[in-house]
Amino acid sequence: MTVVTTGETDDRVHVVLDPGHGGLEPGAVTSDGIAEKDVNLEVGLLAEELLEEQGFDVTLTRYTDIRIPLRTRVEIADRLGAALLVSIHHQGTNTNVPRSDEPGTEVYYQQDSSESKRFAGILVEESRQALGAFDIEWFAGVDAGATYRPNRDTGEDFYGMVRLPETPAVLAEMAFLGNTAEVDLMRTGELQIAEAEAISQAVVRWFITDDPGSGYVEPSFGLRSSGGGGGVEGCQDPDLGDTVDLAAQLSDALEEQSDEN
Ligand SMILES: [Zn+2]
Repeated sequence: MTVVTTGETDDRVHVVLDPGHGGLEPGAVTSDGIAEKDVNLEVGLLAEELLEEQGFDVTLTRYTDIRIPLRTRVEIADRLGAALLVSIHHQGTNTNVPRSDEPGTEVYYQQDSSESKRFAGILVEESRQALGAFDIEWFAGVDAGATYRPNRDTGEDFYGMVRLPETPAVLAEMAFLGNTAEVDLMRTGELQIAEAEAISQAVVRWFITDDPGSGYVEPSFGLRSSGGGGGVEGCQDPDLGDTVDLAAQLSDALEEQSDEN
């Protein structure tokens, strides 16, 4: 299905996919060394391919294993005038998350954007279908579904990747690196393919339908994220990166270390 038929490159819908973390910032890591940053990138590249086949223009915030400041990721989407920004993440090693027959994908949307919210609900539907094809014991925390996460003090969106952009944006915790059954599927690459299919199908549906999405849950405010499951252990929201001078940051950090020794 080609969603845009004018043939004019300029008229194509632009979608920005953001593989979370990268470089010195691995995100969540399994005990045997599978890093979230790598899984996020694999899913992003696969989803890019699927969406381009459907006629979308896709830009990734990174194509290699490098750390990109959060503000820069947001700027890429805003400056391109993207229709949508999807930040791709995986959760860490919280072993207290309840087991479930259904995948525990969590999609955080922007409180003030009905289009971000609608995309989150559609992505939840597509994730439950694509990932749910695997008959394994999933992890699913209290935030499984489409939700938002307000900052406890300010009430603003907690995650920089949805708070900062003008572009409708979501942050998706697609699956759990803390669950051996899910990691087994990542090792074969099957889970990444299913996630990429879910993301690309969700983008297509969001664009060509008025589907309202489903799976909306009330926010846990991050309060129930410890012990009871959910949350983003190991997958921390990184610094916003006011400065993009990474070389200077690195030399400062090295200097501090040598001062301490
Ligand atoms: Zn992450």
